[in-house]
Amino acid sequence: MSIEKYIRDIQDFPKPGIVFKDITPLLANPEASKVFLELLINGLPDVKIDKVVGVESRGFFFATLLAYKLDAGFVPVRKPKKLPYTTISATYDLEYGQDTLEIHTDAIQKGDKVLIHDDVLATGGTAKAVCELVEKLGGEIVQCNFLMELTFLNGREKIKQYDIFSPLKY
Ligand code: AMP
Repeated sequence: MSIEKYIRDIQDFPKPGIVFKDITPLLANPEASKVFLELLINGLPDVKIDKVVGVESRGFFFATLLAYKLDAGFVPVRKPKKLPYTTISATYDLEYGQDTLEIHTDAIQKGDKVLIHDDVLATGGTAKAVCELVEKLGGEIVQCNFLMELTFLNGREKIKQYDIFSPLKY
C-alpha cells in the first residue's frame, strides 16, 4: 500500500507559505490507519511501555490506538487551561511568538516507560517541550514517534538524545 496518498497537502494553511499535512484522509480509511499503526508498532524498541503521551490535538488519534495495542495508559498533553486537575507546563518558541503545553501532575509515575506520539515532527519545538514535561514527572522516554517528519526543518536535532521514529519522511 502506498501510504503517502492518505496524507493530503493543503497549501497556505493555516498561514501563507505553510503546506499543511492533512491526516483526515488517513483517519477516514480503516485499512490505511491499520497500516500506519502497525508501522509505528514495528518501529518500537522491545520495551514494555507504561504510558503513551499524545499531543493535542492530532497526536491524540494514534496515541490512543497505540496505547490500546500496547496495553499502556494514555496521557494527554494539552494547550493551556484545558486540563482540569493540577498541571505543570512548558513554554517553547514558535516561528512567531511562543506556545505552552500542559500535563497533569499525576499522569506519569516516576520510572514509567513513556512513548511520545504526535502526527508531525516539524521544527521539533513541540516534541522537545513534551519531553521536558515527561521527564519533570520522572518518566523515561523510550521513543518519540510521529506519523511523518518534515526532514528539511531538522526537528530531529532538537530531540536528538531520544530514539525517534516516523514511517513517512518529506
Ligand atoms: P513543531 O513544533 O514545529 O515540530 O511542530 C509540530 C506540531 O505542529 C505538531 O503538533 C503538528 O501537528 C503541527 N504541525 C507543524 N507543521 C505542520 C504541518 N506542515 N502540517 C500539519 N501539522 C503541522
